[in-house]
Amino acid sequence: MSAIPPGSTIGILGSGQLGRMLAVAAAQLGYRCHIYAPESGPACDVAAAFTQGAYDDSPALYAFAGQVDAITFEFENVEPVAIAQLGARVPTRPHSLSLDIARYRVAEKEWAAQIGGRTAPWRGVSDLPSLETALADVGAPAILKTTLFGYDGKGQARIDSPADATAAWSEIGSPVLEGGFPAILEGRVDFFAEFSVIVCRGTDGATVAWDVPENLHREGILATSSVPASAPVLAQAEEATAFAVAMANKLGHVGVLTCEFFATPDGPVFNEMAPRVHNSGHWTIEGAVTSQFENHIRAICGLPLGSTTLTGAAVEMTNLIGADAGRWPALLGEGDAHLHLYGKHEARPGRKMGHVTRVRR
Ligand code: AMP
Repeated sequence: MSAIPPGSTIGILGSGQLGRMLAVAAAQLGYRCHIYAPESGPACDVAAAFTQGAYDDSPALYAFAGQVDAITFEFENVEPVAIAQLGARVPTRPHSLSLDIARYRVAEKEWAAQIGGRTAPWRGVSDLPSLETALADVGAPAILKTTLFGYDGKGQARIDSPADATAAWSEIGSPVLEGGFPAILEGRVDFFAEFSVIVCRGTDGATVAWDVPENLHREGILATSSVPASAPVLAQAEEATAFAVAMANKLGHVGVLTCEFFATPDGPVFNEMAPRVHNSGHWTIEGAVTSQFENHIRAICGLPLGSTTLTGAAVEMTNLIGADAGRWPALLGEGDAHLHLYGKHEARPGRKMGHVTRVRR
């Protein structure tokens, strides 16, 4: 398979901060980026071109595909069928299967089981009666989640006892999904830590993985990612990394794939995956020889992957959420903190405005 050489144009679906950091990494390797998204965003400020269009506007997507040499995405809520159509015109990586499986929580769990991974006990849910049956099977406490379009803990409702079922079903919006389960009930996992595995797979099937970050969430949003993880998490890293590599291989994935896990006394429990670069991998920009963004660009362009070795003894990434971004003067004053601001103008509560990475040598 021939490489897409530097100087070519990479199309990115999505205009958020992940697209921005992908475009910066691509620029360093001599590529131009062309963003396609319904609205302008942080990626547009650093890209060569921007096309405004909806993700279901087939003629506009097709025209976009004619202007780029490869396409990738930073955002899962693109229709897999659109990715498949684009793939017929220009190399589109990862391909639609990765997107299809990763964005549908039921398929994610089924694929995880097929490669021998542990998951929370779960049942697909279509309506209130099926939720009640699922609760009888899975037991409380549990979490009801929409199967599509969930992120940062959105589209989820806690169920502490069967009496909470009606409220939980209406809290997630009583969703409907033709041809699938609109919701999933998961038993609540009793974990002592959360961590993720970030792997990257090339067009030749070669894979690399970074050290696993231990992730702390606040109000459902990632707050910090730390490497190395604590000893009890590190003890589960090898098994979880083998799982993520097996998943990437089974999908025939090209690019970065992120798998999120709960660390439990029984071993790693797979929660969900993202077929893309991930917030818990931002630390790799300064904390690893090759960042998740650069390796993703290398992978989708058919280039050899770079080393994931740490650049220091320890790395910590802290998200700057909402008003946290106002701390930028103090962060710059630290001297050796790496500040990233995404150029967003409105610091709404819960909005990811930037992050800071500290590498301890
Ligand atoms: P998710 O959108 O699936 O990543 O869920 C967001 C957060 O909710 C996770 O990072 C966990 O902290 C928590 N969570 C999700 N699913 C479960 C579960 N089955 N058991 C316990 N906590 C969960």
